[in-house]
Amino acid sequence: MARSIENKNDRCFCGAEPIIFLPYASRYLCERDFIRMFDKRVRKTITRFRMLRKGDRVALGLSGGKDSTVLLHSLAELRKDLPFELIAITIDEGIVGYRPITIKTAKRECEKLGIEHRVVSFRKGAGNSLDSLIKKQAKRSVDRDDGEHHESPLPCSLCGVIRRYLLNKAAREAGATKLAMGHNLDDTAQTVFMNIMRNEPGRLARLNDPFVTDPHFIPRIRPLMLTPEKEIALYVMVRGMKIERLECPYARTAFRNQARKMLNETEERYPGTKFKVMNWFLDVEGALRAKYGKGLKSGATKLPSCPKCGEPSSGDGDCMYCRMVK
Ligand code: SF4
Repeated sequence: MARSIENKNDRCFCGAEPIIFLPYASRYLCERDFIRMFDKRVRKTITRFRMLRKGDRVALGLSGGKDSTVLLHSLAELRKDLPFELIAITIDEGIVGYRPITIKTAKRECEKLGIEHRVVSFRKGAGNSLDSLIKKQAKRSVDRDDGEHHESPLPCSLCGVIRRYLLNKAAREAGATKLAMGHNLDDTAQTVFMNIMRNEPGRLARLNDPFVTDPHFIPRIRPLMLTPEKEIALYVMVRGMKIERLECPYARTAFRNQARKMLNETEERYPGTKFKVMNWFLDVEGALRAKYGKGLKSGATKLPSCPKCGEPSSGDGDCMYCRMVK
């Protein structure tokens, strides 16, 4: 979609009128072939990375936004061919004016598909909503500097750590064997890019970890990691899904925004860049795991655990959650 359909004579390979041009593949697709290609790609990603096994119990991290809602429908459909259980978990960060609306969507879609839905709140799980944690931190930052303005930690860093912690815990308590995330190609390429810019190869080594077998850690899978965000937006439209287009009020403060902007600009000039970033990552991830994986190699049975809360930790000492929240 970086280029619109310019010529009335442009056609899908089946001869029908196209609804999308895929610049990275130099291809036009009609609605029917677009939907086919989309569904096939999600299934292929699941198969290629052996994300699911017969008998799995999958907990989907369902925000109620377009990505996770599309994934909810894809996984529900896939159950017709591959027997696995599916439940959805929504984390309520407590972001006024934003999260209550997406929770409604999540509930409605789960009801429609007959899928069990659980909501876990920051307030219950971490003692405070994200809104109040941010207010408290900002106040502390200002007090420390005698009233001088001092930047508080980025909301997304705090939110991400708490959300991952609560999701993993909730998925484990629900008896899940896999935790499915709605991260798309854009999100995943941004994460790769951000970890390179921050020089954090250890984090990159842990990005794709469907085989970890530590009983405290539910391996995460990302069936949309090779699906561009724009194609998910189009899929939502053509499938007639009713999903609110909302942006979290804190999203603009994120470092991720910078990575998104750079990648989008490069993709516009050099179509296929996001796929290339992902392919680079997939090519080197084995080497990264071997060097930095710390027990995250395929079949690992024990991850380092936090001495304070006992939950899995990315290294020795207290986990990020305990350092940030407790
Ligand atoms: Fe949390 Fe940032 Fe996402 Fe908002 S944009 S939900 S603060 S991670």
